[in-house]
Amino acid sequence: MRLVLLLLVSFLASGCLARHAWPTLVERAKTDAPAILISDVSVFDGVSGTLAEHVDVVLRLDRVTQVRPHAELKCEDCAIIDGTGKTLMPGLIDAHVHLTGSPAPPWHVTWPDEDHNGAALLYSGVTTAMDVGGEREALSSLSARSKAGTWLGPDFTHAGMVLTPRGGYPASMVRELFPWPVSALAEDKFAHQLSTPEDAAKAVDANLGAGASYIKVAVAQVPLEAPVYTAELLAAVVTAAKARGVKVVAHVDTAEHALMAARAGVSVLVHGVHLGALTEAQAAELKTLGTVVIPTLVVWDRIDQLSQHRYAPTALERELYPADFLAYFAPEQTRQRTLPDGLMRWMQKLAADKPDRVLAVKRLSEAKVPLLVGADDAGSIGCMTGAAFHEEMRLLVEAGVPLLDVLRGATSEAGRVFGRDVGQVREGARADLLLLEGNPLVSLEAFSHIRTVIKGGKVIERKPPAK
Ligand SMILES: [Zn+2]
Repeated sequence: MRLVLLLLVSFLASGCLARHAWPTLVERAKTDAPAILISDVSVFDGVSGTLAEHVDVVLRLDRVTQVRPHAELKCEDCAIIDGTGKTLMPGLIDAHVHLTGSPAPPWHVTWPDEDHNGAALLYSGVTTAMDVGGEREALSSLSARSKAGTWLGPDFTHAGMVLTPRGGYPASMVRELFPWPVSALAEDKFAHQLSTPEDAAKAVDANLGAGASYIKVAVAQVPLEAPVYTAELLAAVVTAAKARGVKVVAHVDTAEHALMAARAGVSVLVHGVHLGALTEAQAAELKTLGTVVIPTLVVWDRIDQLSQHRYAPTALERELYPADFLAYFAPEQTRQRTLPDGLMRWMQKLAADKPDRVLAVKRLSEAKVPLLVGADDAGSIGCMTGAAFHEEMRLLVEAGVPLLDVLRGATSEAGRVFGRDVGQVREGARADLLLLEGNPLVSLEAFSHIRTVIKGGKVIERKPPAK
């Protein structure tokens, strides 16, 4: 979902956008020490189901260089972090963000703030992010700022602009919400609309040329009557991507679309099966095909909360966002809003299919389909950057995914799927780490007590806002 689209069209329509005083949230720690020793700490390595206790961990440059039993090693030039009573674990990997987007609702248009998005993710413990769709120039300039060190946020890769059949989602949603010519101006800004198989290779090249690391397609219908990929057009995209050595990730909605994408060679399904049911046999076929799924339960949960006028901010959301922004989502606001009929029908189906959606996640988990944690941060209404990730972990556990599988999906498994040297605590791994009070293998409650975030071997200081 990318409601940043709505921001743009609303901007074009109204000529004004709200700006907010976002809290600072994080700063780079000032230190001259060339290395860090985290002493006498418990370690969740991102893989094992048990903590290693009384461990010393040395970080030098951007790497974990030594992981040893406590007191076995000396480090003369290390700054010491006392890990007593704390757990060290890999930094979190959010497999579905929109760094150049905003979670604002269309009725309170708000300027997307990539600095706040980056800070909110780091504050929440996310040190690596997969951006699965954004406007080309905005993503290119953010990549350049990240490389130059002038943007403080997670390391990220991106998909560039989504590829969709002409008139398909997300162009279909823009057309539903806004009158021509506003819709016509906006829809091509964020999606490559494909008419022929020849268009597919051109769009793939355009995205890769602009720095994309994978290709995103939308095999979904919003509203429910929107045009959707033919097997031939989808095959053209996958063939073009594979010929250039990159994966395809697909936004899917139904089991039928999920299987169509997986059979065509799409490796990662984002948003899971959220309309209709997924049978055990279909889950087993996805496992056989080697498909990875990112459920984004928080997206649907948040839309349900807002449409049923029962949203209340979480504690983390209140740390990350100013009260005047969160007030946009309050029941007294949502009660005054309606959407076009096509979107209302889609939302009603979404609400009615909640039991199927939760069961689909359980069936995928039981079929051993790898599940990653992605929260559509700043990409869907009310998915507050950083906080949505923690909501997603909670909802996955609630749906019946074992806690260890959720934690692996948030760390080592995501690193493996996206081919990045992150998501584990081991010698030689990249030093992206979290220090927490409590044991995340016992309860997600430990994430309410993040004490230190380390990215690339450097401490990021969290600055909890005064309330
Ligand atoms: Zn999204």
